[in-house]
Amino acid sequence: MKYVSTRGGDTPKSFCEVVLEGLCRDGGLSMPESIPQISKETLTKWRNLTSYSELALEVASLYATDIPREDLQKLVENAYNTQNFGVESIISERSIGENIKVLGLSEGPTFAFKDMAMQFLGQLFPYVLEKMDRTLNIVGATSGDTGSSAIHAMKGKPRINVVMLSPHNRMSAFQTAQMYSVQDKNIYNIAVEGVFDDCQDLVKALNNDIAFKEKFNLGAVNSINFARILAQIIYYFKGYFMTATSNDEVIDVVIPSGNFGNIFAGIMARQMGLPIRKLILATNENNVLDEFFKTGVYKPRASKDVHLTSSPSMDIAKASNFERFIYLIAGSEATKALWEQIDTQGYFDLTKGELWADRAEWNIESGESSHQNRIETIQRIYKESNELIDPHTADGVFVGSHYLDGTTQVCLETAKPIKFYETIKQAVNDAPFDLAEVEKIEALPQKKEVMANDAALLRQFIESALN
Ligand SMILES: *Cc1c(COP(=O)(O)O)cnc(C)c1O
Repeated sequence: MKYVSTRGGDTPKSFCEVVLEGLCRDGGLSMPESIPQISKETLTKWRNLTSYSELALEVASLYATDIPREDLQKLVENAYNTQNFGVESIISERSIGENIKVLGLSEGPTFAFKDMAMQFLGQLFPYVLEKMDRTLNIVGATSGDTGSSAIHAMKGKPRINVVMLSPHNRMSAFQTAQMYSVQDKNIYNIAVEGVFDDCQDLVKALNNDIAFKEKFNLGAVNSINFARILAQIIYYFKGYFMTATSNDEVIDVVIPSGNFGNIFAGIMARQMGLPIRKLILATNENNVLDEFFKTGVYKPRASKDVHLTSSPSMDIAKASNFERFIYLIAGSEATKALWEQIDTQGYFDLTKGELWADRAEWNIESGESSHQNRIETIQRIYKESNELIDPHTADGVFVGSHYLDGTTQVCLETAKPIKFYETIKQAVNDAPFDLAEVEKIEALPQKKEVMANDAALLRQFIESALN
């Protein structure tokens, strides 16, 4: 399998080459040149596989064709096991009403669905680096979830260092503890005296210095990495087998969305032949994507216009993976032209061309929730089903409730409720949390470097720490 750019202007690459890079040379994102098709027979075979990692091997081997099968098997077995995930099945399933199911994707070490992909990357990166005899210094900025998941996936791994910038004193006690309690030598937590945007700007400044970037092998684990999409395709298959009783059944899937990575994996799985009828995209007050699916206008926002919400992992200004969807429906030439329009006029309007006429065939619905909607949904589900859901999942359940018609609806649970217990306590005062697990993590010793918001200081730090 070769990988091409969504904007058509880069040479085709192998999977391993794509794993370590960010954007393509033309500014586009890597995509497989074709989408593997799964026959009915194969789907039957896959349903009968017993472990998650067996299924992962089958899916991954269609995309990572330059990794020998025995190697790939070790990588998925080392990623998807009960040491890393709390349950044998790796993902979990529970009912929250007639025909409504919650698919738990947050059984990993940081209690959020990012672990599903990041644990795979934690195996894949050292493998590819070894093969290429390279090292990688991951420098990133986080407001909580992604950074934490990356740290837990990369800690102790050979050929990799992680320098993670986070806003000093601006994360929840639990998020802070989860990140700063990692003591491994290859993990460097930097608490920047500023906000998340300042952290991001510092990382950008560093990456703009090409000479510095090359000298220190700087890289990222951002959400546009195709290996992350691949890892997420796997749980759509597994989730389907767990929630649909036979391969003749169709399901709808609801996805709490930010950067469009999770739902895009669902779009890929459906294109491969998985019997999903509708994909329902849910946003919070940061509704760029809901706006697009309702009006045809895609208009990224400025980071200063991002609302800080009670579902913080979905607080985005633009949806980086959205370009991949446009590429699938429009091809690379149109994608290139549309992103040029974003550069020149700040948005594009799909109703101006022919593509919008196919809107109904996309089978993608969308909606948004407010803080009040999420709180009420958490209360309602607790009352009706005695189940707690986190604010991101509540966003999905709320939006999904407008599309119930008897078909099984599967809402993806992107974080465990305990991770956001402060918000949940607002909704359900006497929520039966076992805070022992949280308190245990919060009590661990923490390791971090507090740093002023100054690019020169960050540079000095990297020069002395990573040399
Ligand atoms: C990252 C994240 C999301 C959004 O997922 P995307 O792939 O960016 O659309 C939703 N919920 C939680 C808890 C997350 O961490």
